[in-house]
Amino acid sequence: MKFFVNEDCIGCGLCPSVCPEVFSMTDDGVAKALEADVTDSTAACAQEAAQQCPVSAIEHN
Ligand code: SF4
Repeated sequence: MKFFVNEDCIGCGLCPSVCPEVFSMTDDGVAKALEADVTDSTAACAQEAAQQCPVSAIEHN
C-alpha cells in the first residue's frame, strides 16, 4: 500500500504526529508521504492519520 497527500492539505501537522513513519512536513508547510510501499503495520497508522485528517487530503492505492 502506498500513501499520497493531495493538494487539499492545509498543513495542520496532524499526520506526522500520528504516523511519523509515513508522513513528514515539507518546507512549504504541507505534508508529504513516503514514496515507497509501506508494510501492513505501518499502513495501519497511516490509515489512522487518513481518517483523522480534517480535510481528507490523505489517499492511498
Ligand atoms: S492531517 Fe491532513 S491537513 Fe493535516 S498535515 Fe496531514 S494531510 Fe495535511
